[in-house]
Amino acid sequence: MKIGVIGCGNMGGGMARQLLAAGHTMVCYDPDADTLDKLQADGVKAAASAGELARSVQYIILSLPKAAVVEAVMQEIGSDIRQGSIVLDTSTSEPATSQAMSELGAAHGFSFIDGPVSGGPSAANAGTMTMLLGGELSAIEELKPLLDIITAKTVIVGGSGAGHAAKIANNMLCAANLVLVAEAIRLGEASGVQAQDLLEGINAGSGRSGVSEVNFPRWVLNDAFDSGFTMGLMRKDVGLALDLAKSTRVELPGFTEIADLWLNQSTHISDSADFNEIVKYDDRGNDSV
Ligand code: NAD
Repeated sequence: MKIGVIGCGNMGGGMARQLLAAGHTMVCYDPDADTLDKLQADGVKAAASAGELARSVQYIILSLPKAAVVEAVMQEIGSDIRQGSIVLDTSTSEPATSQAMSELGAAHGFSFIDGPVSGGPSAANAGTMTMLLGGELSAIEELKPLLDIITAKTVIVGGSGAGHAAKIANNMLCAANLVLVAEAIRLGEASGVQAQDLLEGINAGSGRSGVSEVNFPRWVLNDAFDSGFTMGLMRKDVGLALDLAKSTRVELPGFTEIADLWLNQSTHISDSADFNEIVKYDDRGNDSV
């Protein structure tokens, strides 16, 4: 297959390399010249613009910073996309954007699928991401050979926008659990239980989560804080959850408190820091976890 990737940073670059290694012809576009140069050195063809890429491939993967960029790129290339093509948006974006892009696709003769991913750059580079898919089943089925290369697990969660809604809900829980497991550990330590022992107990019980089973052992308790996913990206996702709650008129009183910690009460932790550093939200210079 000839596949294009628009937005070739940490995640898009990893996907492009995996698909190239599997024997596909890859065309990439990214406005950052260094990013494109590195991919070209690996054997990927570079397009001069997103429109040029869209005119030359049947399958387009987007891995862009946010919904507004997805919309801008899609408006730019809408009439360049070949009839019968499929656009797979792996960006963490918004349900309403996917639904609008799906309508744009119906008007121009292409399909638009939302397929946001989990796993970070290491999973993108290893082809082991998890993807939550929303959109037309026939187009998702057609993408299967491609998905088999870049993912270890896919879940079809519904029609257009459903993938983004599910991804936002998932990251909302991850953001909340990071704060809550840190607080549980403080409570345990104040009661004389060491963090490691407490975690083992939690992971044997009903309080366990991806955060207690993976994040704390791998990135927090050992002070590694090198997951590859940043505070800035998680703050974006926390904002997406609040926006989705507003647009769907759903009250989130518990998460609203936690979102305040991420967005307003942890400004001493920079956007470029590892997202697990939120466990230090009330620690302005003294590591307690
Ligand atoms: P990144 O900043 O490394 O890559 C984004 C790329 O998009 C950059 O190379 C940038 O130059 C390019 N870009 C910006 N504007 C563009 C435009 N108009 N046209 C074409 N390219 C453009 O970010 P990333 O970490 O690869 O994340 C990409 C997406 O994946 C985001 O939506 C993010 O939320 C999501 N995501 C990231 C991770 C992670 O751990 N990094 C995990 C899951 C999901």
